Parts: sequence; C-alpha cells; structure tokens
Amino acid sequence: MPEISSSPDARHEAPSQTHARKAARAQRTLRTPGDLLESGLIDRDALADVTRVSQRYATAIPDVFRALIEHPDDPIGLQVIPHADELILSPDEDADPIADDALSPVPGIVRRYADRALLKPLLVCPLYCRFCFRREHVGPDGGLLGDDDLDRALGWLSDHAEIREVILTGGDPLMLSPRRLSTIMARLNAIPHVTTIRIHSRVPLAAPERVSGELLDALETDRALWLALHANHAREFTQAGDAALRTIIRRGIPVLGQSVLLRGVNDSSAALEDLFRAMVERRVKPYYLHQLDRAPGTARFHVPIEEGRALLASLRGRVTGLAWPTYVLDIPGGHGKAPLGPDYVDLDSGMIIDPSGQTHALGAA
Ligand SMILES: *Cc1c(COP(=O)(O)O)cnc(C)c1O
Ligand code: SF4
Repeated sequence: MPEISSSPDARHEAPSQTHARKAARAQRTLRTPGDLLESGLIDRDALADVTRVSQRYATAIPDVFRALIEHPDDPIGLQVIPHADELILSPDEDADPIADDALSPVPGIVRRYADRALLKPLLVCPLYCRFCFRREHVGPDGGLLGDDDLDRALGWLSDHAEIREVILTGGDPLMLSPRRLSTIMARLNAIPHVTTIRIHSRVPLAAPERVSGELLDALETDRALWLALHANHAREFTQAGDAALRTIIRRGIPVLGQSVLLRGVNDSSAALEDLFRAMVERRVKPYYLHQLDRAPGTARFHVPIEEGRALLASLRGRVTGLAWPTYVLDIPGGHGKAPLGPDYVDLDSGMIIDPSGQTHALGAA
C-alpha cells in the first residue's frame, strides 16, 4: 500500500508528560473550526460559516505558518484561514477551472502539451490555500494514487515517447513518504525518454521539517530534477524554510519560484519586490507569477489583469532582472498558459517603451 509518512503531530505525542504535550501542541497543524477558534484565528461569530466552508474545502495551517500570522487578515492569514466569502460563488467560477479532468488520459496524468505531462501521485498538501485552483480535489484523505493506478500512469508515460518532462504535482509530492517518492523516482528513471523531472511543492517553506536526508536521498536521480517552489509572500521564508532550501540546493537541484497574484497578499509593487528579492537572495529564480484561476469561492483574491501588468511594469528596470517572473494566465478551459505582458513593443508603429516608460523608435532593430 502507498503511504504518507506519519505527521509531525503524531511523532510528538507523549500523553503522560505535560511538557511533551505542550511541545505537541506547538507542533500541531490546525485543521478544524474548533482548532481555529481556540487559536484565536477566527471569532465565535464566524464559527458557523467557517464550519460550512470546512465541510466543503480542506483546511490545514501548519505551525510554521501559524507562527507567522500576526493578524487573520495579514498576507499569511489570508492564504490559509477559511473565510465565509468562500461560500460565495461567482458565475465565471468553475470547479475545474483549467480542465485538468478533461485532459486526463488515465488517473493521475494530465496532458496539455506535446512534450510534458503532469503526474499527480497524491492530493495531500502541507497546508490548503484558500485560493487553490484544485480546491475541489485536494484534501488530507484524498487522491493517493494506488499501486494499480500508479502502474497505469507510469505505463502511459512509457508508451508516450514524446513526453520528455514529467511534472510531479498534486497535492504536494513532498508529502509522500521518502519510500514512496523513491519508488516513483526510480520508475521515472527507468523511462528512457523522460529526461527532466519537475516537482511542484510548498513543503520546503510550509513543512521544512519534512526535508530530511531521507527525503533528499529519495530524490536522487540522474535525470535533470527541478523544484518549483510555491511562495506568495516574503515572510514565508523563515529560518527553518531557508535551511531546508539550502539543503535542497546543495544537492544540485535548481529551484524556481511560482507565485499567485493575490489581493491582500502580494498586490503591491513593494510586496512583489520583497517576494522576488527574497527568492533571488536564496538562489530561487522567480519563474511564474500566476493570474488567479477562477476556482469556486476565490473572488476575494482576484486582481484584474490590467493591475497585474502595471505591477510587473513597476518592477522593470528598478529591480534586478533575475527577480522578474513571467506573468501568466492558465487559459480557462485547459488551453494552456499564456504570458500576460506587460508589452513593450508596438511593431505596427515601430515604437518601444523603455523601463522608465519613455517611448523610442525601434529603428532598424
Ligand atoms: C502548467 C502546466 C504545465 C507546465 O507548463 P510550463 O509552462 O512548462 O511551466 C504542464 N502541463 C499542464 C497540464 C499544466 O497545466
Ligand atoms: S499547495 Fe498547491 S495544490 Fe496545495 S492547496 Fe495550495 S495551491 Fe492547492
């Protein structure tokens, strides 16, 4: 049977010793409306609505993130604390906003592009983002790909010689036990045409204690392994998270940054600058800034594209080019990702805009 390794919560259980119990509480992941109330993250007035939200969408706030929340509406709290507004559905929202389900040839595989495919070995995450585009699917007891389904998914990858890159996502692949992860890596290594493996994860910052020698050993591969780290605010980089990232980078794994543009979290020039600089200073290359996908109950996080473009433009030239991600939209309906600009060239008029906003003739360029 596939397994997820025991949570830190369980490891810290020592019921007979008061101070051990206190340590267990400190390490606890908050999951229920009762936990949230007890920890002061929601008011009693909000309990009924938050309970309804929790029946529909998973909640988890690991201790590292709990410790960062100064106020429920701050950039960390907003990302993880369930809110009554999640019950509001807008007409343009969709339970499967980027058509992952429609693009799945066999369970666990999603294929949109010719040369790469997603492999989703589980749907568990270290925390559950309130804006998640897969929120209808992710959860603590959901979607662990069983042995037969894994066989079929790996068989599909073997049979499709044009697939050069496998993107492990989910859920969060680093929530798998090292044993399960090493099995998957070994089996990917045995497919000759898979030259590149990418892992999408929040674990290094949201559950840094999982980044153990055993986990890193499980990632050993002779293929090109890349890690895409999901982070949305500079404050997510804690000492423990930084240490976890360093151990990953020391193993020769390049790390990319993936962020979502979110109202109240990072929708200012200063917040984006801090976030992307925090990444660059830790050798994490900002890769994508995602326009929010229209998943159900996420409208409170929406930032219009025009505003996103202006925010990106505000960084150009002022902040190192290493800190500039591509601003992308996953086109609703599963049509793939498209860059959203900002644009600097107008080929019709032969003009180009410099980083300070001045227009120049392109000339013979
Ligand atoms: C986002 C995504 C990818 C990866 O796209 P890149 O632009 O290479 O990062 C691959 N497959 C699917 C289905 C995706 O949604
Ligand atoms: S870590 Fe990714 S998959 Fe998991 S809840 Fe957040 S956005 Fe969704």
